[in-house]
Amino acid sequence: MEPKTANLSTCSYGDTKGRIYDYAVLPWGALEPHNYHLPYATDVLLSHALSLEAVEKAADDWNVSGGVFPPVWLGSQNPGQWDLPFCIHARYETQKALLGDVVASLYRQGFRCLFIVNGHGGNSFKNMVRDLAFDYPDFTVVAVSWFTILPHDDYFEEPGEHADEMETSLMMHYHPEHVRMEMAGEGREKPFAARSLKEKVGWMPRNWTKISDDTGVGNPMKSSAEKGKRYAGDLVAKLSLLFTEVAKGDIYI
Ligand SMILES: [Zn+2]
Repeated sequence: MEPKTANLSTCSYGDTKGRIYDYAVLPWGALEPHNYHLPYATDVLLSHALSLEAVEKAADDWNVSGGVFPPVWLGSQNPGQWDLPFCIHARYETQKALLGDVVASLYRQGFRCLFIVNGHGGNSFKNMVRDLAFDYPDFTVVAVSWFTILPHDDYFEEPGEHADEMETSLMMHYHPEHVRMEMAGEGREKPFAARSLKEKVGWMPRNWTKISDDTGVGNPMKSSAEKGKRYAGDLVAKLSLLFTEVAKGDIYI
């Protein structure tokens, strides 16, 4: 049977030559400390793994074909994390230039549909996508932050925010060889002293080194591969349907 998908980290031109693809997927993450027990590249690895599975499912279930790029690791940082070794902050302009080049090249090749699958809370693509919609009216860019799709309470006992039970469980499911629970800190968050900021009357980026000793926000101790598998399965179902509906052009009534 002909492959309908392209994992662009592993496939060759021999696989893609002469084939028509309905859409492309750009997984996007960040490179930053994730408590002491998860890799710097956690957001990158998870966005990539979910994208690959969702593209496969869309091909199997609905016969639409997509390609998944190697993930982008340049994320927007909260100020505190960029003080930590090897943690790189990518500016808005850097991310926008990168995304613009991807869209310009795809457009030349005849593509008209790109999904950004984002796994990093500090990344925000909405205004970039608005600009691209203005520049390329017949090219659809959809941004999805997968960690916002499903309510974490339905899957995890102590949902947190960063290197928490959710991220740790997903890593145990997809990349158990990279999880070192014996090193994990408790991910205890120190809230803002300012009540207005604590109550989210106003927003400002948090200095991460002031809100957590181990960089984690959320206790990872109750994580399990089974929880990760169940959550990942539901996420992949949501993502594959999104890819299918948009790639087929079923957007408006
Ligand atoms: Zn993360």
